[in-house]
Amino acid sequence: MAQRIVDVLVPVALDHTYSYRAPPELDLSVGDLVAVPLGKAETVGVVWSDNVPVRPGLHNRLKDVDATLDYPPLREELRSFVDWVANYTLSPRGMVLRMALRMGELGPERERVAVRLSGPPPQRMTPARRRVMTALSDGLLRTKAEAAKDAGVSTGVIDGLVDEGTLEVVALPPEPVARQPDPDYRAPELTGPQRMATDILRGAVKQGGYTVDLLDGVTGSGKTEVYFEAIAETIRKRRQSLVLMPEIALTAQFLDRFAQRFGVRPAEWHSELGSRRRARTWNAVAAGEVNVVVGARSALFLPYADLGLIVVDEEHDAVYKQEDGVHYHARDMAVVRARIADIPIVLSSATPSVETMVNARRGRYRRLALTQRFGGQSEPAIEAIDLKREGPPRGRFIAPRLAGIVKTALERGDQALLFLNRRGYAPLTLCRACGFRLNCPNCDAWLVDHRFKRQLVCHHCGFTTPPPAACPKCHATESFVACGPGVERLEEEAHTLFPDRRILVLSSDLIASIERMREEFRDIEEGRVDIVIGTQLVAKGHHFPKLNLVGVIDADLGLGSGDPRAAERTFQLLHQVIGRAGREEGRGMGYLQTHQPEHPVMQALIAQDREAFYNSEIAARERLHYPPFGRLASLLVTGADKHAAEGFARKLAMIAPHTDDVRVLGPAEAPLAVVRGRHRFRLMVKSARNFDLSAWLRGWLAQAPKRKGDIKLDVDVDPQSFL
Ligand code: ADP
Ligand code: ZN
Repeated sequence: MAQRIVDVLVPVALDHTYSYRAPPELDLSVGDLVAVPLGKAETVGVVWSDNVPVRPGLHNRLKDVDATLDYPPLREELRSFVDWVANYTLSPRGMVLRMALRMGELGPERERVAVRLSGPPPQRMTPARRRVMTALSDGLLRTKAEAAKDAGVSTGVIDGLVDEGTLEVVALPPEPVARQPDPDYRAPELTGPQRMATDILRGAVKQGGYTVDLLDGVTGSGKTEVYFEAIAETIRKRRQSLVLMPEIALTAQFLDRFAQRFGVRPAEWHSELGSRRRARTWNAVAAGEVNVVVGARSALFLPYADLGLIVVDEEHDAVYKQEDGVHYHARDMAVVRARIADIPIVLSSATPSVETMVNARRGRYRRLALTQRFGGQSEPAIEAIDLKREGPPRGRFIAPRLAGIVKTALERGDQALLFLNRRGYAPLTLCRACGFRLNCPNCDAWLVDHRFKRQLVCHHCGFTTPPPAACPKCHATESFVACGPGVERLEEEAHTLFPDRRILVLSSDLIASIERMREEFRDIEEGRVDIVIGTQLVAKGHHFPKLNLVGVIDADLGLGSGDPRAAERTFQLLHQVIGRAGREEGRGMGYLQTHQPEHPVMQALIAQDREAFYNSEIAARERLHYPPFGRLASLLVTGADKHAAEGFARKLAMIAPHTDDVRVLGPAEAPLAVVRGRHRFRLMVKSARNFDLSAWLRGWLAQAPKRKGDIKLDVDVDPQSFL
């Protein structure tokens, strides 16, 4: 009998499949997850294709597939998507497959327990214990934390009562991944414009098939409410929906809002999920038991049983670009996945990316506009504070006028947000005596003072060191001065200016846990904070009902970066953060502290003329043949030895095939010249828009000279980062 051979793709950094003999008793199909021997070990793989013709004699040396694994097979749709992403991004297919196989490990999850009143009162009664007994007198089950909170005591008191036998501990089953959402649980009364957008999205879902809609609405216009209706329609069709979000921080509020609309929370997918929960979610998604997944970009690679809708919230967000491993843009790849699955996709934003805007203007995407905030609030008015004329005194960062405005707002009972997109205390520390700057030993970067943690930190490699006692160069003591502000320094200043106000700093490095962060956001929402000081963590998506004032401490921060998208990014970030203000009552106000009030970005923000900004930005991109009017790829060559790295980059440039459609620029030393002790050289490749750049790159790199030593080459198609 003819021996059956299958090709198996394994989740390692390889582009090709391996052939194995398929023992007849395994009854393999394409897409099956299997265990195969690889070298001396055994690995998981996926049967990628069947019946390959083998050269005579070759199959004798092939090994057998060991076993099939008890997982649902990867469907054709996901396999095509893996192939597509690998081909486009020039990543080994195995690396892309790996993202689809992050299925964690099934097994018992951390047991959840609850307590309830059961035994006799304790021997020794205290006021705290009495409060617990009163709070739990309803006999209901509560987790220890809930019981402690309801009684206003520490969990130690609860534990004491368990020891005494007054409280009984009951094991709870693990929380289900997600329960069935009810599409009609609590549908909102939509406004006219919301209804128009909703009808179109519902129609797209009802009809099925690939469509792209840009939900382009001002902050607070109800974009979420609108795409919820598309999800409701998808649930009615018994198909799955995926909502991509740029930040896990954002998902907390989203989960609650979803529950208000649909009665239950959706399933979550992000890097913070424990392995066991990840496993149960992966399996439930594959089995079609989960209707709605909200997740970070990696949720795009889940094995949906029947995906019917994708929503990309805040579609313009740069976080959607993965910068390590497989360089892919989750928004772009979401559109690809929707096309392969032949389903609708909704891109939602108040400040769409230039790429998406151009697609909408050309009619490739349908544009649904929501121009009014729900409830009739107007968008915040924006004013500039010219730092050249009315800046703060030296060593301070809040201009006197802004300080006065914050004071008045607080007296009125409003909340204020001071926005500064810089973590830590100060971005630079220098020696007053000799001018020496503290920099990272591994990178071409300054160390950032994180005073709260008593550490100097490199934001590029994570190097940390306690602040030195004396200057390493001139040995002067107590000679260090902090230059420039970070959020921690701003907090110090705010405490001096507003001594008895409740101030909260939100910055990704200060977050102890997701749970803690969710609590902090709740504190803001419920008005337990007067002044919020935050990085971009607070800029996105959050709904803070009591916030009416946003002060941007350094509006120019992102403009000087040399990134072709610097203006776009700055516009989006500032628009978003000021959009947090005035969402419920009162008029929101935004203030931009800037050295360049005449800059087009500031002018567009102040005049609230978004279209003018897009017009000028799109014209500039077109003139320079930048995306989406041309295509870019970046090649980064790195190595411990500078000359070797540069030499390799030069050789690469020299052998680039000549075509009229492509220009190769560089190599040039990257703006961030050294990271983790490795020297960095960049080549930029520019091509016409309709050129198959991936194929051309593949042809070029196949000719590349052998890399010697530790030289690394990183290819990034559609780069977002130019550092
Ligand atoms: P966006 O996503 O555009 O910023 P949201 O969907 O978050 O806007 O809506 C802003 C606020 O207005 C939210 O609190 C939302 O619940 C509320 N809202 C919007 N539309 C409606 C509606 N039709 N009925 C009730 N509340 C609404
Ligand atoms: Zn470093």
